[in-house]
Parts: sequence; structure tokens; C-alpha cells
Amino acid sequence: MTQKRLPIRMCAICRRQRPKREMLRLVKTAEGQVFLDETGKKPGRGLYVCPGEDCLAQALKKGRLDKAAGAKVGEAVLERLREKVAHEPEP
Ligand SMILES: [Zn+2]
Repeated sequence: MTQKRLPIRMCAICRRQRPKREMLRLVKTAEGQVFLDETGKKPGRGLYVCPGEDCLAQALKKGRLDKAAGAKVGEAVLERLREKVAHEPEP
């Protein structure tokens, strides 16, 4: 058996678990700022969201992501996520 261990992360919105590399990662810094981590390597507390339209639409509902992150999510981040809703294919 040479099965590779796949890192699994839970979606902050729907609580489903998926391989980390399939998910969008947001990072909350020590200063409480939340931003989209497109490299997946930024330090800070990671927050994961499924890349599908359903979850992103939920995440973009007012206050939903703020609550999940425990901090105010900036408009620039939300804007970026809206673009993802438009461009990412269904998982
Ligand atoms: Zn999800």
C-alpha cells in the first residue's frame, strides 16, 4: 500500500470535508485581517471554502464569511470571491 496521505480540510460554510488542494483558502492574520490565499502557503489561520457556486454564494451572503472567520472580511476579498463564482466550474 503506497497510498499518499491527502490533507483534508473542512469547508467553513457547509462543513463538508474535501482535499485541501480542491478548496479555496482564506487566511486570517494575527491582526485579524482576512484575505484570499491563492498560493495556499500564507501564514495565519486558514479558512477553507468549497470552490463551487453553492458554497461561495452562501459565503458571500451578508456576514456569513465574517462569522466563519471571526473577523470582518474586506470588500476586496469578497469581490475576488464573486469573480470565482463566475469563473470556477462546478466541482
Ligand atoms: Zn462548502
